[in-house]
Amino acid sequence: MAVKDTRTGVGRGLHGITASNSNTRISATRIPSRSASGTATPPLVNDPLGSNFERPRAAMVQRLQAQGITNSAVLAAMQAIPRHAFVDEALASRAYDDASLPIGHGQTISQPWVVARMIASVCGATMPTRVLEVGTGCGYQAAVMAQVFQQVHSIERIRALYDMAKERLRSLRLTKVRLVYGDGMLGLPSVAPFDAIVVAAAGIRIPQALFLQLSVGGVLIAPEGSGAQRLIRVTRTGASSWDRQELEEVRFVPLKSGLQV
Ligand code: SAH
Repeated sequence: MAVKDTRTGVGRGLHGITASNSNTRISATRIPSRSASGTATPPLVNDPLGSNFERPRAAMVQRLQAQGITNSAVLAAMQAIPRHAFVDEALASRAYDDASLPIGHGQTISQPWVVARMIASVCGATMPTRVLEVGTGCGYQAAVMAQVFQQVHSIERIRALYDMAKERLRSLRLTKVRLVYGDGMLGLPSVAPFDAIVVAAAGIRIPQALFLQLSVGGVLIAPEGSGAQRLIRVTRTGASSWDRQELEEVRFVPLKSGLQV
């Protein structure tokens, strides 16, 4: 397998925020109410506390813009999905902080900037259609992705988190996401190829199976490393060629093989 290595945009910030991002001033752009696929964003009906969180959510989206997220479909999706509904009630008041939060079973919901950055970085001139997420966790990132992409599959290896995410997405009527209980290191060969793969847990190496399940032109984003981790973007450029770019430093929970019952 030929992998070309091009280093770009290497940042040094903690928790995925580059030093340059923190000082970059970006004028606010209007966020459309329609998703990239042209369909109206469906109302999230079963969210009784929703109105309490509209302001902090709008502030979160403004902060994402200031941190360099410019993709309007991604910003609209971050505005549409109630992050507070994906964490424990006791943590809901912190749901729109720029921080990762515990979701039980030793796992975390990724910080908003990381979610937005990963999704935006797989969006090219043509929007990916069929997308795979490895590491559903609480289901938040999958819910955001389902606002942006037509077909979203997400795999989780911890049974209790899979069950919880399934129930939560059902109660928010976000039933478009196709959840799978399984080992995401093996990908999802029965559904592949994918136009984009987003990996939400860090391995020492990105599993080869995932590279092979990208369509030609498809893009994968994943954290890599054990201690120091970095986001890596891999583009499949041909049947047996891939292009690799190193992005910002990040901190993710570990990618593990096998299932946890
Ligand atoms: N996407 C989540 C982040 C969850 S944290 C969000 O919205 O914030 C990462 C998740 O990856 C954890 O739930 C962990 O159990 C899961 N994970 C780790 N290794 C995995 C594997 N091999 N297959 C599937 N899920 C995995």
